[in-house]
Amino acid sequence: MQYEEILHRCFRCGYCKLPGNYIDFNCPAYLAFCFETYSPGGRMWLLRAWLDKKIETTDRFQEILFSCVNCGNCVEQCTFPKFKDQLLLAFMAGKEELVNAGKVPPAVRDCLTNYQHHGNPYGFARKKRHGWAEDLEVDRFSEHEYLFFPGDVGSYDSRGQEICRSVARLLKANGISFGIFGADEVSDGNEVNAMGETELFRYLAEENIKTFNASQVKKIITLSPHAYNAIKNDYLQFGGQYQVFHYAQILAPIIKQQTYKSDVPPMRVTYHDSCYLGRHNGEYWSARTILSSLPGIQFVEMDRNMQNALCCGGGGGNFFTDILGRGANNPARARIREAAETAAEVLAVACPLCAVVLEDAVKAERLDERIEVKEISEIANEILDKAN
Ligand code: SF4
Ligand code: SF4
Repeated sequence: MQYEEILHRCFRCGYCKLPGNYIDFNCPAYLAFCFETYSPGGRMWLLRAWLDKKIETTDRFQEILFSCVNCGNCVEQCTFPKFKDQLLLAFMAGKEELVNAGKVPPAVRDCLTNYQHHGNPYGFARKKRHGWAEDLEVDRFSEHEYLFFPGDVGSYDSRGQEICRSVARLLKANGISFGIFGADEVSDGNEVNAMGETELFRYLAEENIKTFNASQVKKIITLSPHAYNAIKNDYLQFGGQYQVFHYAQILAPIIKQQTYKSDVPPMRVTYHDSCYLGRHNGEYWSARTILSSLPGIQFVEMDRNMQNALCCGGGGGNFFTDILGRGANNPARARIREAAETAAEVLAVACPLCAVVLEDAVKAERLDERIEVKEISEIANEILDKAN
């Protein structure tokens, strides 16, 4: 197994399952299951025992490995600088071993099968990929400055489609030149890579790269931070080199320059960092810049923010496989409780996966009357509509 040599170096101090301010557990898998083997340090030792053939490849072992949602908190917090950057890579390598052996939880198997047969995790027809844009006048990409890449959730999930339309409307309203590929694109593959199916990830990436290069795409705006991460960082190894932006990075300087009415009602807002924008790519400020530029917003931070943010649990394929379950210790539910403690009326997000997962958590926590999840372009569109 790749990175096998680092497994014995963990000295089980346990800092990797906490945020930097130590206020609560910050590893979503450990939070959900409360067993040491689900923590980053615990899974290091578990992997070592498995490689030494001291434990079998049980269903439980598979569940533990696939309960890691690739949030990167352990990489951020591990106290051992010599190997901390390789922690998550080792966990992904463990999943890859299981994928290659055909020993994965049924939900992971089904999800990967959908990617393989349909180019998306839902198993929906590829030709429906541009359904989100039907009531908008969005061009097919040709000589536009940017390709807009909606990703799987923006293309197929009904809530994701709303967010996709909201972002596209804002891009259009601000004169950004962009086009889409619709049915000619496939999944960005970020979750496939995170689930250790590296060959399938290569196939998806190469399919997209072929399409992008045939139309001489140079600049890409992604809806999803997950797609942003894959195309910006992981397509390079397959020859895909582009200038990649998350939409918040495009909108932040534009929103700042808008003029608004002065009578927008006040709104207390907190913000949930997406792991694939924040910890994985160091992008903490674009969404905050947008929110702080909008009139009427009283911005308040949660105790765990930026590098220390608690993941919603939607990464690593868990959005589709639900290995973490929906119990009270589910990270999304814990995150909603934390957001509600700030007395914010709105929890702002910049990721369609975070939006869907956290909205479900608001309902599960029965906090619908106290807090609402909104995506940042939706907040901007609301205030712009009121202002214009
Ligand atoms: S990446 Fe996140 S979920 Fe996975 S072990 Fe590290 S802290 Fe836990
Ligand atoms: S912080 Fe690093 S060294 Fe400490 S338990 Fe976690 S993985 Fe092991």
